[in-house]
Amino acid sequence: MTDIRSYSFDGKRAIIRVDFNVPLHKETMQVQDDKRIKAALPTLNWVLNHGGSVVLLSHFGRPKNGPEDRFSMRHVLPRLQELLGVHIGFSSTLEEGILRSKELNAGDVMLMENVRFFEGETDNDSVLSEGFSKLGDCFINDAFGSAHRAHSSTAGIASYFPEDRMMGLLMKEEINNAQRVLSNPVKPFTAIIGGAKVSDKILIIENLLSIASDIIIGGGMAYTFAKAMGGQIGNSLVEEDRLENVKTILSKANQLGVRLHLPQDSVIADSFSGHASTQITSSHHILEGWMGLDIGPNSINDFKKVILSSKTVLWNGPMGVFEWEPFAEGTKNIALAVAEATSSGAYSLIGGGDSASAIAQFELADKVSYVSTGGGALLELFEGKELPGIRALG
Ligand code: AMP
Repeated sequence: MTDIRSYSFDGKRAIIRVDFNVPLHKETMQVQDDKRIKAALPTLNWVLNHGGSVVLLSHFGRPKNGPEDRFSMRHVLPRLQELLGVHIGFSSTLEEGILRSKELNAGDVMLMENVRFFEGETDNDSVLSEGFSKLGDCFINDAFGSAHRAHSSTAGIASYFPEDRMMGLLMKEEINNAQRVLSNPVKPFTAIIGGAKVSDKILIIENLLSIASDIIIGGGMAYTFAKAMGGQIGNSLVEEDRLENVKTILSKANQLGVRLHLPQDSVIADSFSGHASTQITSSHHILEGWMGLDIGPNSINDFKKVILSSKTVLWNGPMGVFEWEPFAEGTKNIALAVAEATSSGAYSLIGGGDSASAIAQFELADKVSYVSTGGGALLELFEGKELPGIRALG
């Protein structure tokens, strides 16, 4: 695969698929968090500084039936313009985009309307893929967060550029960081897996069983494990239809010599609320009518010891309902332990989504080795799957 650093962009129009699916302020409709836009700037600037012009493709939200103002890419335009420091053209239709792309000069940038407004995008429709390909002379995919989707703008379009398709700098960085953990991680390697549902994380845990030395389980999913082991979990989150999967994971971990760490105690609440009454109990003896919403102090200590003795750490998913202060301690202390391990020389990769928000909330993003911009895409990589957006560039 061609590297963008060895490709000649002189006089070329580069179509760059980015992930500008950013949150907006509800009232002002202005960009609330520009992390994803900033993450794409190195690739954009590379092309612009090397004689090329840029046509940007991105999705934005999940429009169901064609164009809808709240999902228009126009809301992103002002912030992008500020960050890039150049005027940016905008095209709402493919016809207009193709015409205007022919007039682009070196250093020019044009943003296309939300790719999901175009019929066929999510079906990877070949007519649309071909249409998108007419917007430029080469294709760069820098949208790691969308690489697990086989859509026209992420996969189909690449087939029209057999010699001129490339990974962007962000995509490359994401994959290099994931590979550092996936293939031959420095041991001991600890994976910390949390979040609400075990069903979302079964495949990743199964795959990690053959790579990790230790797996720490926290969050709502820990209670399906507790129940599978015969514990009483009150009203805690549970997925009854996953009890058998969890038992298989427990026995596989045992066979493979992977140490599985489960929370021995929990902060329990008498209702699912940030203002509920709370107490600390064993995770296997939760009172009737109460539910576990965070890991307890003994679990924090156990987990910290494991993390601090690791050389590689992967973290995906919070330890509790960290959005509510009374249940944020577990996630906060695990974040601090990951930061401390990193300062002692461990390599740490934080999965996107909620773990990235948690690490940002505790102001520790610059104290870990890498925070991924991909949620679902990173999970799928760690499930051992090949991502269609990356395969299409091969
Ligand atoms: P996920 O998207 O699966 O990573 O889950 C993240 C969500 O899980 C967060 O919004 C947390 O509030 C929630 N969560 C974490 N622990 C618990 C718990 N013990 N009970 C209910 N929800 C939880």
